[in-house]
Amino acid sequence: MGIEATQALLTVDLGAIVANWRDLRARHAPGEVAGVVKADAYGLGAAEVGRALCDAGCRTFFVAHLAEGMALRAALGPGPRIAVLNGFPPGADEDAALVPVLNHLGDVAAHAARPPEAGAILHVDTGMARLGLDAKELAVLAEDPGRLGGIRLLAVMSHLACADEPAHPLNARQAARFAEACARLPPAPRSLANSSGIFLGADYATDLARAGCALYGINPTPDQPNPMRQVVTLDAPVLQMREIASGDTVGYGATWSATQPARVATVALGYADGYLRSLSGRSAGTFQGRPIRLIARVSMDLVTFDATDHPELRVGDRIRVIGPERTPDAIAADAGTIGYEILTSLGPRYRRVQLPG
Ligand SMILES: *Cc1c(COP(=O)(O)O)cnc(C)c1O
Repeated sequence: MGIEATQALLTVDLGAIVANWRDLRARHAPGEVAGVVKADAYGLGAAEVGRALCDAGCRTFFVAHLAEGMALRAALGPGPRIAVLNGFPPGADEDAALVPVLNHLGDVAAHAARPPEAGAILHVDTGMARLGLDAKELAVLAEDPGRLGGIRLLAVMSHLACADEPAHPLNARQAARFAEACARLPPAPRSLANSSGIFLGADYATDLARAGCALYGINPTPDQPNPMRQVVTLDAPVLQMREIASGDTVGYGATWSATQPARVATVALGYADGYLRSLSGRSAGTFQGRPIRLIARVSMDLVTFDATDHPELRVGDRIRVIGPERTPDAIAADAGTIGYEILTSLGPRYRRVQLPG
């Protein structure tokens, strides 16, 4: 057996990511759609995802941290624009190859002192109350636009808090506040929608949408069928099979017991791989397209499945734990979280394979 035989296989379909980007771009036309590749492209590999999107024509990327931006720049070369959502830390001034998002007046002052050709994106808060200029800071800047110095404003952006709930009244309020804010600032391209915002319609269409989750196959319209293509499959190998008797228990805490003679498959996957412990006894996989039930507690490196109804299952076979049959969104529902957390939790121990873009 090769070493991979005991390793779970994570397959990332870069072609599906590119198809999702093209789909979003068509929906958001004539505006551009940037690729949000923070947190290693939601766990799927920022360098690989970035290259595939770049090749497809994506010109703008967003990361959260400066270090993520530098790594992406090294992977993509000088072409595309890479913006850093969390802003630059003090002392990062020279890094004109990346675009800081200016989140408060202190950021504006720091950036105004940089070389004038270095562009920046100005973030105004319209209802999230995390980052971005608040109403008071916006008023100060609107009164005194000289504070921008020679800053080349590549965009003014804001971020929607409830875009995945189309009926939420905060959406319209944020769109109106954003339009007001832009009207009070020097003219610049506008950027409002995240993935879900793209689906909110024309009032939310701007020059630049910032799409993350939908690129990676997460449903941006949770109340409706998923319009995006699935991107991720995770296949984990069976390490051992055993027969147990009625009444025998399985795993930590002995939380599952057989009510009849059973076959148990022990699989190389655990919470250290991002297969959340809260899935214990609450999820399933598939083998040869048929469901196979997860039983007992998820432990650090191992999970167990009830293979009683799968007499053909053997050591070395792989159980599919993420795929079209059980999407990250479905697993998130089992675990009481969101698909974003399932993807960003995917661990470093997988053998990773990218299908070409
Ligand atoms: C993460 C993030 C996005 C992308 O959001 P998705 O819901 O994944 O599309 C867009 N804008 C900002 C400011 C973000 O932090």
